[in-house]
Amino acid sequence: MTKRIDGKAFAEKLRRDIATQTAELKQQGITPGLAVVLVGDDPASQVYVRNKGKFAKEVGFKSVEHRLPADTSQAQLLELIDTLNHDDSIHGILVQLPVPKHIDDKAVINAIATEKDVDGFSQLNVGRLGVGEAGLVPCTPLGCSMLLKDYFDGDLSGKHALILGRSNIVGKPMANLLLQANCTVTIAHSRTQHIEQLCQMADIVVAAVGRPEMVKKDWIKKGAVIIDVGINRIERDGKNKLVGDVDFDDVWDVAGAITPVPGGVGPMTIACLLYNTLVACRQLMQ
Ligand code: NAP
Repeated sequence: MTKRIDGKAFAEKLRRDIATQTAELKQQGITPGLAVVLVGDDPASQVYVRNKGKFAKEVGFKSVEHRLPADTSQAQLLELIDTLNHDDSIHGILVQLPVPKHIDDKAVINAIATEKDVDGFSQLNVGRLGVGEAGLVPCTPLGCSMLLKDYFDGDLSGKHALILGRSNIVGKPMANLLLQANCTVTIAHSRTQHIEQLCQMADIVVAAVGRPEMVKKDWIKKGAVIIDVGINRIERDGKNKLVGDVDFDDVWDVAGAITPVPGGVGPMTIACLLYNTLVACRQLMQ
């Protein structure tokens, strides 16, 4: 029988664990601190930032939001990051992307102290993941990896994983995490040939392409486990709807397990941001 992998429930449990550990740290006089920086007034980013702050407070963190106007200069943003880098009450710093076009996002991300880079996007953390050293791992692939490890009771060894998408924030770090877990990894992208046939060979499919319901039943090997990262807004029957990159209803009979959209990977991303902040706090306090 197909299993619906409940990312929402897993994320809730992870947040409860983080809250318990935070309460213990507070008894030692330590409060994990997360600073989220938003430049401009992109409506989607505002929602993300609000949610991150809300969940950070809920687990007992110190939560700080810096909302800067869209015309903030790169120098002003870098100055704020420098201040946060030197603020001992802040253990995690996140700059909500995208930043306005006049700001070089790479310069900004790499200015965040590596040990406080809870998004895991800085060159040093990316490099550490690439060579298999401990560092802060991007939240979405970290969440996917936690769901997979839970489903397979911690052992992904020898599984053939196919990742659809090669972005720096999802596809590539996902590939590194699955390699570390001893999977055989194939990465497919927009230039990949025979993508359906490749997909049919996979025990695990991680879809992160941003194409609504692209993956159909005949792409999937019987019993394969599907992690759907995609978040696509579509209009159906006159209503707005969120769908993934996988056609959930179509693949249901073939898949061994699948994450729904919404309620799958999405909630894991914020929970893993909190997880990374706790990890960063513990490391900084050592
Ligand atoms: P992205 O940067 O746009 O990358 C998309 C990747 O998919 C690219 O590597 C692209 O190939 C590949 N691709 C596009 N069309 C394809 C096709 N027809 N066949 C095969 N590959 C194709 O996107 P992203 O940031 O990784 O995000 C992917 C999806 O995940 C989006 O829907 C996004 O909203 C969602 N997302 C969700 C979360 C979450 O928390 N759940 C977090 C992040 C992202 P090329 O490299 O060749 O262009």
